[in-house]
Amino acid sequence: MSRAQRITVLGATGSIGLSTLDVIGRHPERYEVFALTGYSRLNELFALCIRHAPQYAVVPTALAARQLQDDLRAAGLGTRVLVGEGGLCEVSADPEVDTVLAAIVGAAGLRPTLAAVEAGKKVLLANKEALVMSGALFMQAVHRSATVLLPLDSEHNAIFQCLPRDCASGLDALGVRRILLTASGGPFRETPLSELAHVSPEQACAHPNWSMGRKISVDSASMMNKGLELIEACWLFDCAPARIEVVVHPQSVIHSMVDYVDGSVLAQLGNPDMRTPIAHALAWPERIESGVAPLDLFSIARLDFQAPDEVRFPCLRLARQAADAGGSAPAVLNAVNEVAVAAFLDRRIRFPEIASMIDEVLNAEPTIAVGELETVFEVDARARVLAEQWLQAK
Ligand code: NAD
Ligand code: MG
Repeated sequence: MSRAQRITVLGATGSIGLSTLDVIGRHPERYEVFALTGYSRLNELFALCIRHAPQYAVVPTALAARQLQDDLRAAGLGTRVLVGEGGLCEVSADPEVDTVLAAIVGAAGLRPTLAAVEAGKKVLLANKEALVMSGALFMQAVHRSATVLLPLDSEHNAIFQCLPRDCASGLDALGVRRILLTASGGPFRETPLSELAHVSPEQACAHPNWSMGRKISVDSASMMNKGLELIEACWLFDCAPARIEVVVHPQSVIHSMVDYVDGSVLAQLGNPDMRTPIAHALAWPERIESGVAPLDLFSIARLDFQAPDEVRFPCLRLARQAADAGGSAPAVLNAVNEVAVAAFLDRRIRFPEIASMIDEVLNAEPTIAVGELETVFEVDARARVLAEQWLQAK
């Protein structure tokens, strides 16, 4: 067998990062950790460095870097510690790296993920916000560098698995009618509407099926996660928003489906454990053991489906609006959502205000064409200022 794949894990201390390191740790002959990055919980990053002995670690500040460097040296490790976005881009593009796992949360992941794409790495994408913000430019970079881009998001990984291996010819040529994007409906699927103004961050983060970082947990509760995933799917599978139907499926056993013109519907099923899509993308086109228990259909017994309720989940409608508008609109949607989720987690706004804030800023901002990356960052920065003003004025 060829040498082990060298992997950079962006966002190693997060939920996806840790699940990835769990899968990698099961296959030391296949995978070698090249770099690990973390933004907070740096004790955890130190422990991960001890376990995986990477060549590099990346932290946000020079002070944190000095501390970690000293600790690693004292532990007898030769790991070099780099700092900030420059460090993240360096470990993404290093010539020694084969694969980059993009699992930083939010807009902060865009530059390092793009650095990996531009360097032609195999990129395993969890950081959906990066693609939502800069879709057209991101996909142009993927095609220019002939990067292998594999979706880690469970729904997109499922769709990828339900499409033929060579899907470059486009959905029409493949006979695809629709993509059916499944959604659990989150913790508030059945909460009386009048109670949504009083739900706490803890309740929003208590997802019924998945254990995830706090930002994506709130996104799942508002269904903005499905909205971002709708936009993500449009870019990954080169398809119009109208061709994607959201299907609420509370058990999270079917991770998405592809509906073909002959009436066949292909689905991918599995336990709700991110190690399955992670193992799939790591090993693709092979298959490896992930540590996930076999699916027990007898204990699941039934699978339910419902249409999404856009009165309960206005974020879904707003995301569809941004997807249809194109240009800068998805970047505005994403930026305001990031500010709104942080404000909700800090108890500065109530849960329904997440959607109100996005609605007002998105509809006040003209949509402009986005021809270069700097425009994306300008749009992102301006939307954050407007979102902060909304917070001050309320
Ligand atoms: P998380 O909050 O658990 O982890 C985020 C990681 O990013 C951490 O390592 C953190 O240190 C790092 N980070 C945060 N802010 C940063 C910054 N400004 N600069 C550099 N690094 C920073 O989040 P998660 O649940 O692992 O999600 C990560 C990404 O994967 C998100 O984009 C999310 O939408 C996507 N995703 C997650 C899941 C899941 O099951 N958790 C599923 C599908 C997609
Ligand atoms: Mg998902």
